[in-house]
Amino acid sequence: MTTFSTVSVLGAGVLGTQIALQTARHGIPVVVYDISDDAVAAGRERLAGIVEQYLGDAGQDARPDAEAAVDRISFATDLAEAVAQADLVIEAVPERLDLKRDVYARLAEVAPADTVFATNSSTLLPSAIADATGRPDRFLALHFANHVWRQNTAEVMGTEQTDPAVVDRVVAFAEEIGMVPIRLRKEQPGYVLNSLLVPLLDAAAGLVLRGVADPETIDTTWRIGTGAPVGPFQMYDVIGLRTAHAVASASPEPGARAWAEYLRTEYLDQGKYGVESGEGFYRY
Ligand code: NAD
Repeated sequence: MTTFSTVSVLGAGVLGTQIALQTARHGIPVVVYDISDDAVAAGRERLAGIVEQYLGDAGQDARPDAEAAVDRISFATDLAEAVAQADLVIEAVPERLDLKRDVYARLAEVAPADTVFATNSSTLLPSAIADATGRPDRFLALHFANHVWRQNTAEVMGTEQTDPAVVDRVVAFAEEIGMVPIRLRKEQPGYVLNSLLVPLLDAAAGLVLRGVADPETIDTTWRIGTGAPVGPFQMYDVIGLRTAHAVASASPEPGARAWAEYLRTEYLDQGKYGVESGEGFYRY
């Protein structure tokens, strides 16, 4: 018996399909909700692609289990139907506060009274959403990273209003589905991981932009000086330079915009996207 015996995921996107697969692989039935038949069709296709990515890591012996997991996942376009049996709803809709608040307001009307709600938001604090859920004591953030099965941290972050017993249950659930739960004691933009990672990556970019040292020298320094296996530019290549560029161009900081321009002219315009394209700061 698992902590939550049925789970619904809102949003059949990049993260929603991965969360659904991870949950279903651990024996729990999942209903994935999206807004239209077209979005559901795209979600089914995305899920099939995610299964292949997962098998690329896990090996073909894992195929029967992955297929059994897919059979445990159903899709719905009717919100009330999608959450009628849910003990836990994990929301992975686009990262817009107004959209998320609207989704929670509609969800609050149709979900069973004791269902727990969790947001996978990367940048919005759950306290900015809590009142829209109608159940702030049973609402918190459960943050997965892309490639859920491999980068398997699950950051669990409540608000001041979240019932500590609900945090405990969600931590237990995360463990049951093969994640390493990271429990935060208070709200923090960027959770633990990005609070550490983003300043490191920004500082590394600044050193290159100011002409202090080249990426290889910076990575060598970091590896030798800290014993870490990879340096910040090796991390940039794994994250992907298109993602790094999108993040930097969305920032109002002049330094970030200069970094976005540098990435575009020196790398993206030459098809160098990092590991995914075979070349970024390094060749693969
Ligand atoms: P995505 O754009 O791939 O998917 C979003 C899905 O939500 C789409 O299928 C879309 O049709 C659906 N959608 C749109 N409006 C909806 C609504 N009103 N109700 C239900 N579904 C709706 O987005 P994503 O990358 O999966 O991100 C989703 C959430 O996960 C965001 O909060 C994001 O911050 C977070 N997240 C993303 C990543 C990542 O690497 N992509 C990592 C961690 C967390």
